[in-house]
Parts: sequence; C-alpha cells; structure tokens
Amino acid sequence: MIRFLLSLLFGAAAVLSPAVTLAQQPFFRVLAFYTAKGEPDHIAFAEQALPFFTELAKKHNFYFESTTRWEHLNAQKLKGFQLVLWINDFPIKAEQRAAFQDYMTHGGAWLGFHVSAYNDESTRWPWFVDFIGGAVFYGNNWPPLPAKLIVDDRSHPVTHHLPDTFISPANEWYIWKPSPRLNKHVKVLLTLDPKNYPIGLKDTITAGDLPVVWTNTAYRMIYMNMGHGDKIFASAEQNKLFEDAILWLGTHNNRVPETQLSTLSTGAEIKSIEYANLWSTILLPKTRRPLWEPGE
Ligand code: ZN
Repeated sequence: MIRFLLSLLFGAAAVLSPAVTLAQQPFFRVLAFYTAKGEPDHIAFAEQALPFFTELAKKHNFYFESTTRWEHLNAQKLKGFQLVLWINDFPIKAEQRAAFQDYMTHGGAWLGFHVSAYNDESTRWPWFVDFIGGAVFYGNNWPPLPAKLIVDDRSHPVTHHLPDTFISPANEWYIWKPSPRLNKHVKVLLTLDPKNYPIGLKDTITAGDLPVVWTNTAYRMIYMNMGHGDKIFASAEQNKLFEDAILWLGTHNNRVPETQLSTLSTGAEIKSIEYANLWSTILLPKTRRPLWEPGE
C-alpha cells in the first residue's frame, strides 16, 4: 500500500513539475503610472495604492512596477507589460497618448482610477473620451463621503466576490454626461445607489445615473471612480474588487498565437522566453488551465 501511495505521489510530482516551474515566472506584468505632484488627496491615494498592489503582486505572482515618468508610456516600454494602471493622472503629451492608444487597440489592458479618466473641453483627447465610453466629466460631490454602491452584475469575474451592495469608503464621486451606461459597448459593474442623494455639502450631486465602475467591452479596460484620499483601501470588499480587476485584466483574453503554443510545453522552455515576448505568450497552452480563474 505504501509503495502504491509513493508511486501515486511521484506520479503526481512528475505531472506537477512543469506547473511548479511555470509558477515561479511572473504570471503577468503590470506597469503603474502615477504622479506625486498636485492634488494632495490624489497623492495620498497613490501612496496607499502602491504598497497595496505590491502586496497583491507577491500574493498572485505577477510583476508590478510603478513610475512617475509618463515618458515611459511608449511602445518600447509598454510591449513588456500586459496591464497598465493609471493611478492618479493621465498623459498630456501627444506621443504618450498615441503610444497608449496603439497599446490599447492592439490588446493591451488598462485599469484607471478616479482622476485618471477626467476629461473636459481642456483635455482635448477625443479618442480617450470614446475609450472611456463617451462620458465627459460633469460634476462631483464635496467633501469626500462614503456611499452605498449597487453591484449591477455579480456574475462578472471582477464583481463575483462582492455582495449585492456595500458601503464604499469616503471618495469624491464623479458624475458623467452622458452616462457611460448609454454606450452600447459599456458594461456597468457598480453604480452609486440613488438613495445616497443628495450627496455632498459644498458641492452636491442631487440626481442622475452615476456608474462608478465600468468596462468598455471594445477594449480590455476597467475604470473605477474610487481614488480620492486615504480611506479608499479601508473596505475589505472593495479591496477584493481591486484584486479581482487586476487578475481579470492581467489574464483574460490574452491571445496566444498558434505558432508559439509549442514553445510553452515545458517549464524549461518557458524560462527561455524573454519578458518582452510574454506580451503575447503569457497564457498557457490550451490544455492547461490558467493559474487563476473566477471563483478561486
Ligand atoms: Zn479627487
């Protein structure tokens, strides 16, 4: 019996060893852009976001890099990353915008928080307005306040750990015109419960559809309105939302060219693949399940 168990054990080890080798590689690579200048409450969010995502990277074996140098938003740098984060700012320069646009239209992924999607007549970036779902910044509450959020769809991989509703910590909520929900490509994941109205003291939002988290399904992207102040990571439920969003964007729908599938058959061969090539080869052969799936 012992011999039988041992053979089972060794058999299992032989099967598992390529996966173990694979697990030592970063599962995907994330590049976060932020600014340390300007609105103090947006800097406070970045100061908490960076250690939060660094810890997540350790937990889930992805690579996380952050920078205040927006000139790194260029094709050469981006090709080594499956996912780009904008934590508290957005690019101004035309070449950086063009590089991001090219990245997103060729399968790159983006997670943007709060002011990173801010746009008005002064920002002059029509492509981005379309990318975000046709929504233009219209107003906000002040001071930052907690709010009850409704989870529109709990079957989505990004929201499946959330309850039907939860209290999101104090944030400056943005309302957009038109509501991105009106865009046929947009899937809204979380909405500010209208029962919060009127929300604000100095600046008050009194009515209107206020999507908080959504994806434009024409791209691999999620926008989250959270990101103002030092309370954002105070909710375990909301933190799980951030975690699931990173994992979903980092892994879903990565296309593996048929010609490269054979090179992924063993751990040893995976080691030889340069990080730059992980862009297109990050996912596993069709016969092997991804390291992360909804529900885990
Ligand atoms: Zn803000």
